[in-house]
Amino acid sequence: MRTLADYNRCVDDAEIHRIYAKASKFYERHVVHFNSTFQGGGVAEILYSLLPIMNDAGLYAEWRTLYGSPDFFMITKKFHNALQGDRVNLTSLKKRLYAQASETFSVFNHLNHDCVIVHDPQPLPLISYYRKKQPWIWRCHIDLSAPNGELWDFLKTYILRYDHVVVSHEKYRQPDLPVPQRVIAPAIDPLTPKNMPLGEEDIQKYLRKYGIPTDKPLITQISRFDRHKDPEGVLRVFGKVRESVDCRLVLCGSMATDDPEGMKVFERIERKAGRLIDDKKVILITVENNILVNALQRTSSVIVQKSLKEGFGLTVTEGLWKGKPVVASNVGGIPLQIEEGVSGFLLDPRDEDGFADRIVRILGDPDLGRRLGTAGREAVRKNFLITRLLADWLDLLADVMR
Ligand code: UDP
Repeated sequence: MRTLADYNRCVDDAEIHRIYAKASKFYERHVVHFNSTFQGGGVAEILYSLLPIMNDAGLYAEWRTLYGSPDFFMITKKFHNALQGDRVNLTSLKKRLYAQASETFSVFNHLNHDCVIVHDPQPLPLISYYRKKQPWIWRCHIDLSAPNGELWDFLKTYILRYDHVVVSHEKYRQPDLPVPQRVIAPAIDPLTPKNMPLGEEDIQKYLRKYGIPTDKPLITQISRFDRHKDPEGVLRVFGKVRESVDCRLVLCGSMATDDPEGMKVFERIERKAGRLIDDKKVILITVENNILVNALQRTSSVIVQKSLKEGFGLTVTEGLWKGKPVVASNVGGIPLQIEEGVSGFLLDPRDEDGFADRIVRILGDPDLGRRLGTAGREAVRKNFLITRLLADWLDLLADVMR
């Protein structure tokens, strides 16, 4: 199991000591994290890396996953989209089924912890089903810049019970919310199979295994098949790029268990790409494999993230960490990570000609790609590694668990 000290390959010793020292306030204290999936998506990714080092630092940190039926996840996916601004038909049945999952779960999940941390809307109502005897923190990873008002008012009935709310960007703070709010940017773990250094032989082995040829430049978007990630838009951009450069597109998106819309979006892409799939010009991947993601990111000539909405965008962080040029939408948390023209390219997601133009420019000028990638990697090293995230959590816990 990883320890904090293992991170001395990427982080100064002084920083590691500072984190151990911060954690010394919490010896014998128990915290629990709740989310709704062990696999797929950014939250699971972060918890998988954060929990071992939280424990190593000296806390007792637990991770529990809310059990939900397919109906429940259908509803929470609608809530997720509505928090990002979509409309929602908020019936009393939806509200009841949503709350019921937390109520049922609370019956067989007993809490004796010193602090409870709830991630995203799925387990948000849990707080109503316990006699509260510790601080509760709601950590929302979603782009909250323009939430649907009706849904927000409903969720607020739960959020008001919390002691603290954490969001990923200044723009996501809610002016009407009297609960203290804090901004903490997410982070990646440089030591996981997804981000660790990989030898060329391993890279080739994984690409061969999944049938990905490397004879032509690869353009890659790694993302759940979700319309907010705009895979259809990526396909259109790829069509424009191919008018001037012969290359291949990889869309890699495993199916998260809490995202029931994925299959529909995937099938649509399959229909649209048609012959391009048979010719291996477009390669669609739905397996969950961290080393494959790592190998793809390292082999690609350009990483694309053409999201219409993006809470933060760990896929961008991961691409930058691998020293790759990233061409991405100027939405949500992405501009926190990319400085336009310095560590990547930022575009309006509707500007598909612009996306194609930047990709073609990078493909035609490998030095440009290297320069962008080197600056991107350094930005991630400074700001978006999991050790910084742990330090931020310890600061927040120190304020909340006085
Ligand atoms: N991911 C993955 N395989 C896939 C698609 C995504 O492992 O096929 C991972 C990706 O590498 C990243 C996370 O899922 O670590 C997605 O996080 P992000 O913040 O980009 O988006 P979210 O899915 O949370 O909206």
